[in-house]
Amino acid sequence: MIYGIDIGGTKIEITVFDENMQQKDNWRINTPTDCYQEFISAISDMIFEADGKFKLKGKVGIGMPGLSDQNGLSLSANISIANGQNVAKDLEDRIHRKVLCENDCRCFALSEANGGAGYGYKSVYCAIIGTGAAGGYVVNNEIVLGRQKIAGEYGHLQLPADLKEKYDLPLRQCGCGLPNCYESYVSGPGIEFIYSHITGKNSKVPDIVKEWRTQSKEALKVFDCYMDILGSCFSNIILNYDPHAIILGGGISLIDEIVEGLAVNINSHLFKGFSAPPIYKAKFGDASGARGAALLAMGKD
Ligand SMILES: [Zn+2]
Repeated sequence: MIYGIDIGGTKIEITVFDENMQQKDNWRINTPTDCYQEFISAISDMIFEADGKFKLKGKVGIGMPGLSDQNGLSLSANISIANGQNVAKDLEDRIHRKVLCENDCRCFALSEANGGAGYGYKSVYCAIIGTGAAGGYVVNNEIVLGRQKIAGEYGHLQLPADLKEKYDLPLRQCGCGLPNCYESYVSGPGIEFIYSHITGKNSKVPDIVKEWRTQSKEALKVFDCYMDILGSCFSNIILNYDPHAIILGGGISLIDEIVEGLAVNINSHLFKGFSAPPIYKAKFGDASGARGAALLAMGKD
């Protein structure tokens, strides 16, 4: 058995898979947020509970938000108690077996490339567009992590000057410390920002989408600006990775108009004669984190 554990800021989910990636069990707990030792104990207890249920010692893969430095110490995690800690190593000490741990967006990418919407493509770029913007690049079913494991952080590419000028956009300080990241414009909060920038009013994504569907002049202006920026952002992904397919996940990928309009908007930012690859919605949705985490551990001892 393989345990895929998806650690989030509010919930920790464990999914038990057999060697054919068939789901056998799944449950979740609230993420302990006060004490790091409690956090490690809670995850260990889930693993021991799974061992007890299936009467074996399963393999363990973990996906969690944030990056890790070259010593495996957690950085900029949504789970602040884990900052500066080596979660994989501390768990290994508790449960006496190997623990493979990666960024949750890279786990999503691994899952979608292996039996998901990217099945059958040699290289796949999987992008989550939600409250943030991050993803992962998978070649021949393996994640490409790069030297510092940040390959896939497309949200922190920088918005070009021509688009800033075209839409009279101010510099937006990103949480990462850089001044002008695409994430500030293409994420859910980014849509809300563009809406208020153009209309002078505040609105939330579901209401903005409703307005788009009324085809009002003002709403269409917001949609065109957003799609232009998103197309530009993904044209960078193509220039950097040239993937055979792009898979979209996260809350914003559930808006059909965005998925359907993306290719045309990418193409307008590419050289003549080159174009966007097929673009699909993710197959596994929220289950992708745990599934990708399990795939990390599959076949590894
Ligand atoms: Zn940034």
